[in-house]
Amino acid sequence: KKLLITGGTGFIGKPLVQTLVDQGHEVIVLTRNIASGAKGIQGKVTYVTALSYLSSEEKIDAIINLAGEPLAGGRWNKKKKTSFLSSRLNTTSELLTLVQRLEQKPQLLINGSAVGYYGPNADEELDEQADFVDGFSHQLCNQWEQAALKFGGQGLRVCLLRIGVVLGKNGGPMKQLQLPFKLKVATQLGEGKQWMSWVHLDDVIAMILYLAAQSDIEGAVNITAPQPVTNKQFAENLGGVEKTWFNFRMPGALLKILVGEMATEVLLTGQKVVPSKIIKSGYQFKYPELQSCLRSLS
Ligand code: NDP
Repeated sequence: KKLLITGGTGFIGKPLVQTLVDQGHEVIVLTRNIASGAKGIQGKVTYVTALSYLSSEEKIDAIINLAGEPLAGGRWNKKKKTSFLSSRLNTTSELLTLVQRLEQKPQLLINGSAVGYYGPNADEELDEQADFVDGFSHQLCNQWEQAALKFGGQGLRVCLLRIGVVLGKNGGPMKQLQLPFKLKVATQLGEGKQWMSWVHLDDVIAMILYLAAQSDIEGAVNITAPQPVTNKQFAENLGGVEKTWFNFRMPGALLKILVGEMATEVLLTGQKVVPSKIIKSGYQFKYPELQSCLRSLS
C-alpha cells in the first residue's frame, strides 16, 4: 500500500513510518525539514515539503494526519494557542485540497487528535459516545475532527483518533514524567486524583495499523490503554519501577503559577477514557497494564 503521512517525523510518526516501511509499504512524508525528519529511518521513504509536489495521478491508499505544533513545553499564551490550532487546521485543509485534485481518491484518513476532546472531566468513564466539557482542549480537538470529517465527502473512511498520554522511550511526555524519578524525587501533581489515560507508544502504532485494516470502523476511536490511572497511582507505579529516596508533591497552586492554563487544562485535570470501540472490535493490547508498560520503558 502507499501511505501519505503528516507528522511522520515526530514522536509517534517516526516509529510508525519505520514500521510501515519494514512491512513493505510505500511511504510519503510531508515535513518542513527533510534532513532532520529522515534522520534514523532505515529504508526508503519519500519526503516532500509541500503537497503541491505530488501529482494528481499519484495513487495514495491512505492518509495519516498527525502534524501539529507540540502542546507540551511552556506556557499556553494566545500566540501559542493560535499556532496549535492553525498548524493542525492548515495541514488538514491542504490535505483536503490534495484529495480533491487526486484522480484516484484514497480510501482512508486516520486523523490524530487527543483525549483532550472530552475536556477536563472528573471520575466519569468516557467512551467514544461521552459528552465533553468545554474549554480550549475540547475546541482544539473538535475543530480538528470537524476538518477531518470533510474527507468523508470525498468518499474516504475517516477514523478520528482520540489519543491519550503516549508513553514511549525516545521523547513524548515520559521524559518529563520520568525526570523527578531519575533525580530520585517522586512527584505527584496537586491532589493526585486527576485521571490519566495513558497508552504505550507500541500500542498507538499497532492500533493505527489495526484501524487501517478494519474497514468497518469509522468515527471517533479512543487510543488509550484499557486501565486509566489517577495521577497518584501513576506516581506510585513509576516510583515502584524507578526507586526514589523521598516523595515530593507539587502543589496545584504552584503549578498554576509555573505553567498557567496548561495546568488547569492538562496537568491538574484529566479524563478517565476507555477504549470501548477498539476493544469491542477485538484489538489485543500489547501493554494493557501500567506496570508492564513502565517496565518496558525504564
Ligand atoms: P510531535 O510533536 O513529536 O510531532 C509533531 C509533528 O508535527 C512533527 O513531526 C512536525 O513535523 C509537525 N509539526 C510540528 N509543528 C508544526 C507546525 N507548526 N506546522 C506544521 N507541522 C508541524 O507529536 P507526536 O508525535 O507526539 O503527536 C502526533 C500528534 O498526536 C500531534 O498532533 C499531537 O498533538 C497528537 N497527540 C500526541 C500525544 C502524545 O502523548 N504524544 C497525545 C495526544 C495527541 P515537521 O517538523 O517534520 O514538519
